[in-house]
Amino acid sequence: MTARRLDGTEAARAIRDDVARGVASLRRETGVTAGLTVVLVGDHPASAAYVRGKEKAALAAGMSSETLRLPATAGETEIVETVTSLNANPGVHGILVQLPLPPGVDADRVLEAIDPAKDVDGFHPVNAGRLLLGLPGVLPCTPAGVIALLKRNAIALAGKRAVVLGRSNIVGKPMALLLLREHCTVTIAHSRTQRLAAVAAEADILVAAIGQPGFVGTEFIKPGATVVDVGIHTLTDEGRVRELFGEDDAKLRALREKGSVLCGDVHPREGAARAGFLSPVPGGVGPMTIAMLLSNTVEAARRCSASA
Ligand code: NDP
Repeated sequence: MTARRLDGTEAARAIRDDVARGVASLRRETGVTAGLTVVLVGDHPASAAYVRGKEKAALAAGMSSETLRLPATAGETEIVETVTSLNANPGVHGILVQLPLPPGVDADRVLEAIDPAKDVDGFHPVNAGRLLLGLPGVLPCTPAGVIALLKRNAIALAGKRAVVLGRSNIVGKPMALLLLREHCTVTIAHSRTQRLAAVAAEADILVAAIGQPGFVGTEFIKPGATVVDVGIHTLTDEGRVRELFGEDDAKLRALREKGSVLCGDVHPREGAARAGFLSPVPGGVGPMTIAMLLSNTVEAARRCSASA
């Protein structure tokens, strides 16, 4: 079996086009330009790259977007004050604090300082609670992007067995709740789960979000299952690239030219040979996450202009 590709780049483009139309009509009807502000603390290179991607995508959708850069030495109080001033700024509809924050800063305290109506990452306890209760609220971008990717590919969810590998607050737990909302029978597995591969292999829908490159191999995947790979890792070792991608010329050339290759939590060759559908890394969940961020931002702007 060769898995069909769950193409996140294409699905994300369609969502971003919808968002751009929404931004334009909001501006036409109300004069309001949807605005996203990202708070970046420190100079972590991967975080800086993610933030550039988000800002570029917001601008391309016709939003206003800016990144507030704070030094790595910024303390919790300074970060919370920055967030509080953005809460009070009517031109800012979406606030995103890029994680991780520097050691010593309590990320939960910072996230709780964001106005839940502007919390376009969907990490605020109020939005997490609304998700748990099945009430309308802002949904976390990555899990919401996974559901949108599955729906755009007409993957049936109701009544299916779903297994989520990983139980983080930003991916695993909300992912499980969203699959439950779609009437899946859901299992959450984690580092203490016994017989992990056997549990995963019961899934019709398997979502891998454990942060372990190429970990999910043949024995984790029921033949024909739909597998969504949330993990994202940078490989720099040629042996590891060959182990995961075999003699894939394009990957080996990319490694030589750029010095690194991306992979997910799923073993790419074993996943492709065993699954019915598989999301690639890159080009799967990553672009969907950004598309959902933009969608959350235009929705926040719409709600804000309706209540003004
Ligand atoms: P975390 O490190 O916060 O959580 C990882 C989870 O996986 C934990 O629940 C942990 O279990 C579990 N886990 C770790 N190792 C194992 C193992 N060997 N067996 C079983 N379970 C294990 O990661 P995140 O949820 O933040 O992210 C997961 C992955 O998704 C990362 O690769 C991250 O880079 C990627 N990501 C991608 C995004 C995208 O847009 N594509 C967005 C966000 C994240 P326990 O709780 O027991 O420790």
